Amino acid sequence: MDLISCAPDYVRAISPYQPGKPLSELERELGIAQAIKLASNENPLGASPRVDEAVRQAMKDISRYPDGNGFELKKRLAGRHAVELGQIVLGNGSNDLLELAARAFLGVNASAVYAQYSFAVYPLVTQATGAKGLVAPAQNYAHDPETILATLRADTRVVFIANPNNPTGTFLESSRLHHLLRRLPQDVLAVLDEAYTEYLPPEYRYDASQWLSEFPNLLITRTFSKAYGLAGLRVGYALANLPVADLLNRVRQPFNVSTVAQMAAMAALEDQEFMALSYEINRAGLAQLYAGFKTLGLQYLPSFGNFVLFKVQEAGRVYEQLLRKGVIVRPVASYGLPDWLRVTVGLDKENEQFLKTLAMILG
Ligand SMILES: *Cc1c(COP(=O)(O)O)cnc(C)c1O
Repeated sequence: MDLISCAPDYVRAISPYQPGKPLSELERELGIAQAIKLASNENPLGASPRVDEAVRQAMKDISRYPDGNGFELKKRLAGRHAVELGQIVLGNGSNDLLELAARAFLGVNASAVYAQYSFAVYPLVTQATGAKGLVAPAQNYAHDPETILATLRADTRVVFIANPNNPTGTFLESSRLHHLLRRLPQDVLAVLDEAYTEYLPPEYRYDASQWLSEFPNLLITRTFSKAYGLAGLRVGYALANLPVADLLNRVRQPFNVSTVAQMAAMAALEDQEFMALSYEINRAGLAQLYAGFKTLGLQYLPSFGNFVLFKVQEAGRVYEQLLRKGVIVRPVASYGLPDWLRVTVGLDKENEQFLKTLAMILG
């Protein structure tokens, strides 16, 4: 037998994650000078200016291994969330933490549950362990606690919950989320993925870290990739109770978060002004996109994140035409949403250019 066919079936069956095209690649391919990328839910403002200085400082130390414990960053996060240092796990982006959760709790004899139309990484990290992925039907494109509970099997060890969810932008209100956690069996890890939590309007905000004492099986993940604008540096963190955090740390690479990323994250945490501005720009951009979709007569899902899912006929063709005119959005056919596209909220000018280009394409 050849080497490749000796790899486990469950590994060979994985369909690779399709990242958004990098700007430079698209500009090269299409021979255009100024494309706009609204495909990966990045912060259109970039990162806080304080990050520049932190990165410059960190560069002085790049011949040294990073602090594998991330002491300084964890200290700040512990203060912020009122948890112990040992309850924090740092990740090479929060994707890393999702994978660590899967590696720590799943395997060939286990299953994981996630909602229909939820984040593409959940099936990937599940399948990589040989566990079975079970899809809980969505309700109006959103997570449905009832179907999630009904999908659980005796061998289910992990439930992934994205709140807000990507790519739908839907949100499970904190009271319903808390109720779902209360009804989950104690031998199922609830992975609560809060990648977009900074974009929640004040009246919807909640603090799941306060629930950790109530739920020994809760793991919360956060990222610096979205509102904090550090997607290229790869840093995120998880909050859990000590025994869960300890397990994740056992399967974690010792130096999974670089010095530069740790220093940048600390600087980003300090700049509340930048976060407030990022939030405001996003609210304005959402309103701008909604108005544009209404004018074009297009259906869209009101979003709790920094992106909007909208429905167009021949979404594949529209995606290609936008691309050729220098606007990159995200096709979501691989999520089972072939008639929809996802656009990230950009700066005012970018949103305007996107809407104008879309209007042109739709005639
Ligand atoms: C973007 C995103 C993440 C974060 O990915 P990183 O690895 O932290 O860059 C996690 N969950 C969801 C639902 C996302 O959309």
